[in-house]
Amino acid sequence: MALCLAVPLSLAEQASELAGQEAENSYSPDGDRELREDVIANAENERVFFVIANLEHTLAHEMGHVILDEFDIPVLGNMEVAADQLGIFLFSSLMGGNDNFVQGKLDILQAIADEMRLEWGARPEADREHYWSSHPFEPQRFYNTACMIYGSEPKVLEHIRDFAEIPPARAFYCRDEYETAAQAVSWVISRAGRKTAYTANPEDHKISIEYEEPHSQRSEKIRGWLEETGVITSITHRAEELFDFQRPLRVSVANCQYPGAMWMSGKGEILLCYQLMERYYYLADHRDATETDAVLDMSEWNAFCLYESVAEHYSSYCSKSLGNPGQ
Ligand SMILES: [Zn+2]
Repeated sequence: MALCLAVPLSLAEQASELAGQEAENSYSPDGDRELREDVIANAENERVFFVIANLEHTLAHEMGHVILDEFDIPVLGNMEVAADQLGIFLFSSLMGGNDNFVQGKLDILQAIADEMRLEWGARPEADREHYWSSHPFEPQRFYNTACMIYGSEPKVLEHIRDFAEIPPARAFYCRDEYETAAQAVSWVISRAGRKTAYTANPEDHKISIEYEEPHSQRSEKIRGWLEETGVITSITHRAEELFDFQRPLRVSVANCQYPGAMWMSGKGEILLCYQLMERYYYLADHRDATETDAVLDMSEWNAFCLYESVAEHYSSYCSKSLGNPGQ
């Protein structure tokens, strides 16, 4: 069973437009300057691409949670894996498209792979032993994603299997995994999908996007990228086109203490922390590194409690955890 889904974004095109046209390489007295500008433009181009590709992956996952929650979709097994699969299927540039987009998929997957590799490498040893976590470890998430993409069109996407080094023992099942997920996504759409045509009218526009004033110049710059690429709007519009949400929802881009993202069902809010995107920015500049700085060694949940909206939402947990929620 194949789902025919339009690709919402061309990340490569957007990043390239943002970074400006490449300087020509023809010889001129200003050649050195042009070359420098070229190098800077390309570095910026790659940085934008990396940050936006990873943000898209994260927001697609959170939007997966939104759909599962808002439409009471029954889930067997792990909710985080279900959110990943639904998110990739419906909201990621990695799915769909045509043969010409193979290189684009590879670039996006490379950005996601680098981010996961670096984060995994930066984790303190003790942090890698959180076997209780409902989130699969980064390497597992990467293989799950790569297998799903490869399984969508194994004949065309052999490059993806090669790139991700999916061994035959797993690759053999990727087509089946894809078809099982495709069937589940079809079921979700048939049960919860929009029954009336989407219009541009306000009543169909249920997801607002709010930006808190950034606290750093880097966040300010990233905010510009988010608005110019329209990466968040692409996903929220796609969600609105596919589903008729029954209440107003919000994507909040905010200053937090921790580089995170989360869906808070009680508030109908996806929180995207500028610090997460700053983290992507940092990792974009260290893609070739074997080691990077670890995120501050603090419990993710305790750090989230420092964000007022989260402290309110999880007040009983946060008050126990911090003793002083909302600070
Ligand atoms: Zn999640």
